[in-house]
Amino acid sequence: MAETGSLPTAERRAELASNLARVQERIESASRAAGRIEVPKLIVVTKFHPASDVRALAELGVADVGENRDQEASAKARELAGLGLSWHFIGQLQTNKAKSVVRYADVVHSVDRPALATALAKAAASDPAREGRPPLACLIQVNLDEDAAPGRGGALPAEVAALAEAIESSPALRLAGIMAVAPLGEDPARAFARLADCAAELRKNHPHATMVSAGMSQDLEQAIAAGATHVRIGTDVLGPRPRVL
Ligand SMILES: *Cc1c(COP(=O)(O)O)cnc(C)c1O
Repeated sequence: MAETGSLPTAERRAELASNLARVQERIESASRAAGRIEVPKLIVVTKFHPASDVRALAELGVADVGENRDQEASAKARELAGLGLSWHFIGQLQTNKAKSVVRYADVVHSVDRPALATALAKAAASDPAREGRPPLACLIQVNLDEDAAPGRGGALPAEVAALAEAIESSPALRLAGIMAVAPLGEDPARAFARLADCAAELRKNHPHATMVSAGMSQDLEQAIAAGATHVRIGTDVLGPRPRVL
């Protein structure tokens, strides 16, 4: 595999370009089918793939990338700092990683408990690197599992309102919307319909929290039909994830 920092081969670049075009076509046709006026934004999930791939994607016009592990994300963001990419943190996050994540992240999709909101707020407020940058955009990750247990990646729908208040109470954070992953073993359209309800409920008290981050390679069409504003696509752009970076 290409070493981090090396340039992608011409072959890899062509493969990424054609995968990207196919995914963009799917997004556009799903938007047309759903009668959506605004086409949802593509976040390319680059986790496990080398920085050279991210560089190639940036050259192909990708502006938003998603990562789910702090160590990997911070290394790539540092290496690719000059490219003007927006970094989306989409993974489960320990509070002790908040300090590192606020250094590079523009959006955190996985805020799922008040303690994490507090840790991000504190870290963002005290990081000199964030001075002059907009407040850290936060999405509330909702657990759509019908028999969800608390504390397992995602707030329960009933916990969303309080978590929204916790995020809004910090000037270093901005409540941007909501995020979810469709549970395994359920029709994603059904699950995303529940997410749309949560999103509508959130907007009643927070009308500016309009982001709905939903849809992966397997279910982007269903997510767009249910109102996703941002889809997070890994495999169908980059191919299967390598086991080790
Ligand atoms: C890995 C990941 C994705 C991308 O999934 P693909 O199936 O590879 O498109 C999207 N969202 C989250 C939260 C992820 O962890």
